[in-house]
Amino acid sequence: MGCCNKPRKTNDCSAKEERETENCMVCGDELVYKSQPDKKECIYCGTEKAAAVYCLNDHFVCDKCHNQEINSFIEEAALNAKTKDPLEFAERMMAHPNMPFLGGAHHLVVTSALLVALRNFGPITVQGIEKQVTAEDIEEGIRRMKKIPSCSCADYGSCGAGPGVGAVFSILYQATCAKDRERTLTMRATNASLTAIANTGGPGCCKQSVRTAIETGIELLKEQFEIKLPVSRIRNCDFSQRHPHGCKGERCVYF
Ligand SMILES: [Zn+2]
Ligand SMILES: [Zn+2]
Repeated sequence: MGCCNKPRKTNDCSAKEERETENCMVCGDELVYKSQPDKKECIYCGTEKAAAVYCLNDHFVCDKCHNQEINSFIEEAALNAKTKDPLEFAERMMAHPNMPFLGGAHHLVVTSALLVALRNFGPITVQGIEKQVTAEDIEEGIRRMKKIPSCSCADYGSCGAGPGVGAVFSILYQATCAKDRERTLTMRATNASLTAIANTGGPGCCKQSVRTAIETGIELLKEQFEIKLPVSRIRNCDFSQRHPHGCKGERCVYF
């Protein structure tokens, strides 16, 4: 789609039309990332919002319109998936032609990949009690992850892939703010994942963050519940040529 053919404003964010997955979703041109947002109208739904990311042609797409369609796809795929391999599921989601190269949909991928693998693994023992991960657990994990916005890595120092692992442990431990050990272990799972992601350096790469978070989650599941999930070692990353910020190349273990 050329940048002159601006999409018609509509309140239906799921309105089907061709969208770019790298750079600007509307015209494919370079995106500007601001540390202080400007007020702009979303080109799809017309809502005025604080816009920290928009393109050189002034196209701003709000987080809801950016992610709604792919989020629904990830949810449906997660509910139907038969795999016990979280990285296989994650790679399949990230390779979907409508998956934006960067953005909040990746947060859902982490949580759903681990919960899908756990559901298909079968019953596990959590604090002496048998627990079977269910479809409702997957839906709950996805519901929580939809609340974490894109760019939370830079905005809060908390890439959503990290809390994506924390949400899995929260669901397994049935953590609440009022509980002791369950809340602590949930935060430790998020912390361990965020540390691993931060240690990969920048600029941010959602593919690398998803893989790093899931590998951390797999390690923690083994330590805490003696669950051995398969690990698909990702090498020769398929995405390196497409990265809008520039791939880190040899600095990335998946390159
Ligand atoms: Zn544009
Ligand atoms: Zn919108």
